[in-house]
Amino acid sequence: MMNKKLVLIGGGHAHMATLANIEHIRARGHELTVIAPSEHHYYSGMGPGMLGKTYTPDDIRFRTRRVVEKQGGIFVLDTAVRIEAENRMVHLKSGRALRYDVLSCNAGSFVPQTGVVEGAEQVFASKPIERLQALQKEIIQRTAADRIAIGIIGGGPSAAEISGNIWQLVRKQKGIMPNITIFSGSEFFSRFSPPIGQKIRQILTRRGIQILEDDYARVISDHQIILASGKTVALDLVVLAFGVRPSTLFADSGLPVGPDGGLAVNQFLQNETYPELFGGGDCIHFLPRPLNKVGVYAVRQNTVLLHNLLARLEGKSLQAFDPGGDYLLIYNLGGGQGVFHKNRVTFKGRLAFSIKDYIDRKFMRKFQAFE
Ligand SMILES: Cc1cc2nc3c(=O)[nH]c(=O)nc-3n(C[C@H](O)[C@H](O)[C@H](O)COP(=O)(O)OP(=O)(O)OC[C@H]3O[C@@H](n4cnc5c(N)ncnc54)[C@H](O)[C@@H]3O)c2cc1C
Repeated sequence: MMNKKLVLIGGGHAHMATLANIEHIRARGHELTVIAPSEHHYYSGMGPGMLGKTYTPDDIRFRTRRVVEKQGGIFVLDTAVRIEAENRMVHLKSGRALRYDVLSCNAGSFVPQTGVVEGAEQVFASKPIERLQALQKEIIQRTAADRIAIGIIGGGPSAAEISGNIWQLVRKQKGIMPNITIFSGSEFFSRFSPPIGQKIRQILTRRGIQILEDDYARVISDHQIILASGKTVALDLVVLAFGVRPSTLFADSGLPVGPDGGLAVNQFLQNETYPELFGGGDCIHFLPRPLNKVGVYAVRQNTVLLHNLLARLEGKSLQAFDPGGDYLLIYNLGGGQGVFHKNRVTFKGRLAFSIKDYIDRKFMRKFQAFE
């Protein structure tokens, strides 16, 4: 019996394998505690589909608390606000502090509120995914009687999937189709191989969704946005769907971070200054090479993270994480339509969405089984 304390911050996508193995970890004599601000963790890949009512909230969430407690782990409903790495302590929002021998961070990312005027209530962000439920309610209510204007700020996957699923939601509810505009700032999908953006654009514009590519949103408030050109656009609802940033927890704690504030980790997903500190998913800066903020990497990190946490607790050797090559991208654009991309193959249509739906539901079933 070793009796070491393993603490996890966040029950996110990179911690799935660890959460599924709590019994095993405990059987080896270790204590496991999970700190999370919600009893559920939402699978973001299906978030836009939930907004569009293809999925219910239950379809896309893991009951983290239940999974932890069922296996004899300790679940702490709280938020980590500071890591005091010298003394191996995590400080929580409630004022509590927890001691650890090994700490693993999967605190995810957030949408920066750049340009948003304080107190704005009709501005929604694509993360946390829970917030998309409030957006859905608002859209259903407001499109029942009026033609409203919705602005989506962002020019990548979130903007595309959210606008497509707002369109689907209103159609399903038989509401009055709103004017939907994507404020892409610069060229839509410019970071991606051109056929992806072209195919997404074809699907969205055919539905009357406008894409504005030559002006940045500078000031975002409840009823209007002001663009860099000085132009003002009146809007009823605004959705922030631009690039995410890692949790500020690490920068706030004075820990070694990358340029975007992610916890600096080496090939073992381990911080080099504090070797009992590990991390995965959107909240890390992977020193060997920066990784895109996609769930694919978080999922690929699972087994390595589980292995390394146990190895660190028990003084065994660590495994290196290999991010792997090109990954599959499929976008859910609502209306049963998707865009598929892998290597040099890009296609759009119902098959693309069906493949995504199959993969996503399978992933959910695999880990929901532990509930
Ligand atoms: C709308 C949308 C759609 C997407 N679709 C896809 C897709 O189809 N495929 C894909 O690969 N990627 C997709 N992504 C990207 C993907 O969401 C992220 O890469 C993925 O969520 C990262 O997982 P994570 O577990 O690191 O972070 P998160 O999913 O953000 O999870 C972090 C967890 O930590 C908890 N947490 C946060 N802060 C603290 C704290 N201080 N203390 C304790 N707990 C904390 C949170 O509550 C949360 O449960 C999408 C993103 C968005 C916004």
